[in-house]
Amino acid sequence: MADEPVRSPGFSTRALRAASRVPRVLQTPNAVPIYQAVTYSAEESEELGAVLQGRREGYAYSRLGHPTATILSDAIATLEGGEAGLTFDSGMGAISGTLGAHLSQGDHMVVTRAVYGSTRALITTVLARFGITSTFVDPTDLEAVEAAITPATRVMYLETISNPTLVVADLAALAALGHRHGLTVVVDNTFASPYLCRPLELGADLVLESCTKWLGGHSDVLAGSVSGSRDLVAPIAATQVDIGATIAPFSAFLVLRGIETLAVRLDRHCATALALARQAEGSPIPRAVFYPGLPSHPQAAVAARQLRAGGGLLALDLGARDAAAAFIDALTVPQRTASLGSVFTMAVHPPSTTHRQLSSAELAAAGIAEGLVRISVGLEDVEDLAAELATGLAAAAAVGVPA
Ligand SMILES: *Cc1c(COP(=O)(O)O)cnc(C)c1O
Repeated sequence: MADEPVRSPGFSTRALRAASRVPRVLQTPNAVPIYQAVTYSAEESEELGAVLQGRREGYAYSRLGHPTATILSDAIATLEGGEAGLTFDSGMGAISGTLGAHLSQGDHMVVTRAVYGSTRALITTVLARFGITSTFVDPTDLEAVEAAITPATRVMYLETISNPTLVVADLAALAALGHRHGLTVVVDNTFASPYLCRPLELGADLVLESCTKWLGGHSDVLAGSVSGSRDLVAPIAATQVDIGATIAPFSAFLVLRGIETLAVRLDRHCATALALARQAEGSPIPRAVFYPGLPSHPQAAVAARQLRAGGGLLALDLGARDAAAAFIDALTVPQRTASLGSVFTMAVHPPSTTHRQLSSAELAAAGIAEGLVRISVGLEDVEDLAAELATGLAAAAAVGVPA
């Protein structure tokens, strides 16, 4: 038989091999690499099966997990004081996965009435269609919370600090109450972040974060997390595999980067917010100033016990919608946008934006004034923000702040 010429691989094969050689790096990179791969190949076929069945540690398909997400999930769990953690591609992903894993048809949940708008919609529209019922309660009224608990109640759902009037829930007292009734106590800690408050240390079972806010900190990444005991996080991990919503590698990288400066950013956000809250309270123009770090805050004592500082958000009641609009429109430094927890200051009128679904009666029942303005304080110079606040208050006064 004549010798066949040795075939060299064709161009496409060479391109695929050449472009997917993963380097073995012997020195440790000082930033967590973005593992932008969906598939991970095994040494032999038995290994892939073992990884997919959870009999062996490793990665197979990035919806089930990838190294950048693992590092982020573990980092957040460490900061929260939890045994285990999991990260999602948004805060709502984390909330959906957590409630989807811990509630079934026929179950009931007790929920803080000041809950984040999309969480309320998830509970009252999506979960309700699957036979999960809910009762919304005032978290500062422990008797009302207890009265809402039924034999079918499984979950107590709270927020450390709630939108937009910055209600502070007494997590230790509420968790103790929930545990007397055998409930799983879930806390959305987004407005505080683990730097200001660690709900697991106060007795909560699971803590959620929208990492889109303070943890990421720059308004450039959507992400969410849940942390708690291994036993409570495991069913959420199993649910996440099937509903998706796994965090993207680049998103995980951005949140890791945010975490490195969380403490220094929040120290500054809180110091500036306190200065602005004091300035607003010293002015005769606002009807009320809401800031958890002011002695005038309705839950000032709880806030002092539970929070390292008063947080980066404050709210002002300017008495009427047109006064609130005049305040916001007079600002030149802050962004007129609805989010929070970023390097730049944001001002928003909750009744026409974040809480637009509520009628006037519902706004009143939730304690949200028609003239409320919420400010997420950024890292700009405090003198500039103080001047902006004065300008905004003067503009509100010019259209008339009702007494
Ligand atoms: C923003 C936010 C969420 C939702 O987070 P996303 O990352 O936007 O999905 C949930 N809870 C609170 C308190 C929030 O502020």
